[in-house]
Amino acid sequence: MKITFLGTGTSHGVPPLDCMIRGYDRCPKGVCRKSLTDPRHSRTRTSVLLQKNGKTLIADVSADFRQQALRHNIRKIDAVVLSHGHIDHFGGLPDIRSYTEEEPLTVYASSETLETVRQSFPYMFEARKGRGGGIPRLIMEELNCARDIAGFTVTPVPVTHGSLKECLGLKIDNIGYVPDVKYMDAGSEELLMGLDCLILNCLRDQREHATHMLLDQSMELARRLAPKRCYFIHMTHDIDYEVDGKRLDNWMEFSYDGLVVDVDYNLLTLF
Ligand SMILES: [Zn+2]
Ligand SMILES: [Zn+2]
Ligand SMILES: [Zn+2]
Repeated sequence: MKITFLGTGTSHGVPPLDCMIRGYDRCPKGVCRKSLTDPRHSRTRTSVLLQKNGKTLIADVSADFRQQALRHNIRKIDAVVLSHGHIDHFGGLPDIRSYTEEEPLTVYASSETLETVRQSFPYMFEARKGRGGGIPRLIMEELNCARDIAGFTVTPVPVTHGSLKECLGLKIDNIGYVPDVKYMDAGSEELLMGLDCLILNCLRDQREHATHMLLDQSMELARRLAPKRCYFIHMTHDIDYEVDGKRLDNWMEFSYDGLVVDVDYNLLTLF
């Protein structure tokens, strides 16, 4: 399987507009300044593309989806899976319309997430009669058990993330994708134990956050789950790829936009 990290940033992206407005010199760790010249510090909103046997699955359709699709020349998508109903993870759905010209695309998510999407984009789900084009044709399917999606085995992994009742991590074949999490119970840990590759939320380094894990917590969880490789994702400008990267175990890495990894964990290319 080929994994493309389309976006690796938290909901504000990096640089967040705040740092641009205040001036990059006031960025706490200088990461936003670095992002202007080193793309590993520039982070669009979180999403990954998985490809296997000619099939393409996208996990989360970020608010930056259009830009990511252009950057990676994504010409076909066979299915969409959403982790949860926060806008940074599904804000790009309007642009999915270009992939539904010939046939509808199925979106898999928890029932709570599907409902949030319906409420956020009511125009997509209203009767079409007499209306113009430009509306993605989506089939909304609840993901509440392991199932085959476009040739990938996708298992929902319930996690705790703020007040959401049905936030999911996703086990896709032997890869774990958990972009937003504060806590998961023993049953969910069991599902993610010993994977080939774990893609895990790591929000920032310092200052406790109510709904996300910090670097030390993410490393601790990763060590417990013991994957062969771990890539941290959904990061703020508080994570310096170079400086903080030295603190990671040798099987851990901060992901970055454009990182492509194959199942044998060879780094293929930076876009
Ligand atoms: Zn998020
Ligand atoms: Zn900054
Ligand atoms: Zn979230």
